[in-house]
Amino acid sequence: MTDERAERIADFIRPLRVKPGSKVRLDRDFDPRYKAGLKKRKGIELLRTGVSLLAEYQDRLAAQDTYGVLLCLQALDAGGKDGTIRHVMSGVNPQGVRVSSFKVPSAEELDHDYLWRYAQRLPTRGEIAIFNRSHYEEVLVVRVHPEHLVRQKLPESARRSGLWDRRYREINDWERHLTDNGFKVVKIFLNLSKEEQRTRFLKRIDLPEKNWKFSAADVRERRRWDDYQDAFSEMLSATSTKWAPWYVVPADRKWFARISAAAVLVHTLMDIDPQYPDVGNEARRDLLVTKWELEQEAPAGTPADPYASVHPSASGTTDRGDGQTGNRPKKKKRKKKRG
Ligand code: AMP
Ligand code: MG
Repeated sequence: MTDERAERIADFIRPLRVKPGSKVRLDRDFDPRYKAGLKKRKGIELLRTGVSLLAEYQDRLAAQDTYGVLLCLQALDAGGKDGTIRHVMSGVNPQGVRVSSFKVPSAEELDHDYLWRYAQRLPTRGEIAIFNRSHYEEVLVVRVHPEHLVRQKLPESARRSGLWDRRYREINDWERHLTDNGFKVVKIFLNLSKEEQRTRFLKRIDLPEKNWKFSAADVRERRRWDDYQDAFSEMLSATSTKWAPWYVVPADRKWFARISAAAVLVHTLMDIDPQYPDVGNEARRDLLVTKWELEQEAPAGTPADPYASVHPSASGTTDRGDGQTGNRPKKKKRKKKRG
């Protein structure tokens, strides 16, 4: 991977990052229509590159089996979370990704502390987990609608003033703990304008095949627009940390939201820079012995190693190029233990 490409990606996402410790206001500091001077056609081309980079990095992440990545996606209704996941992850091996959506908590979930259900869905090492809505709902919808808080059965001491500041701190600490132990946390807020939300709602009503995506609750939430903007602004200011910064992705143009999300994720993976494990010299020597034995089984007229015969640069071949193999490689003698 060229450093130049890594730098271009870092430059691209820098304006989207919420500087840790800064106090931001969505309406003042972030434009939902920003597009970094890009044209749509160029944007779609970049997304293609981003998707294939992601596939490559995810393969290495899984092979290395040391780090995991958690991508949290937050947005208001019609913000484009589903489409972003579908497009950005379109090239990666489904075995290495797990997507979890969080709805109104169940009775079982409410019987635990508020982070419990999110902890159940964390990535394993080698995995990318995507949270479609996340633990941040606990300081968003729960804040805008205090009746959700009532359902959480908190003891009196946990309901006192300072609750939201305490949750911010607990979330920061939790993410710090994850990061320190090999799980990178990436957070994307899809920033949609009120007018674009109106347009998308209307489209969901106009097109019968989109009707299922629309619910009366969506308009009810829209009426609380300003409360949500405040809750988002506070959340971004309080929980964008050095170890897990927030990215505010302009979401009025779907294509731009998608390349931005891809760029943020690629940047994270580049930072991890996962490597294919090297099995070591001894294991490699054993592999060559096995290889030699397999080559001896080649039927007459077939290359000893069909793969190496068309990929002569493959390392470790004993094929001499004439379909015959060389001498049996020597296994390293292991010292016998005495006694
Ligand atoms: P959707 O993602 O459109 O299927 O809707 C899921 C709904 O669940 C949204 O209205 C969220 O606000 C709501 N939701 C998600 N997490 C929570 C939570 N922790 N407490 C209450 N409501 C939630
Ligand atoms: Mg919805």
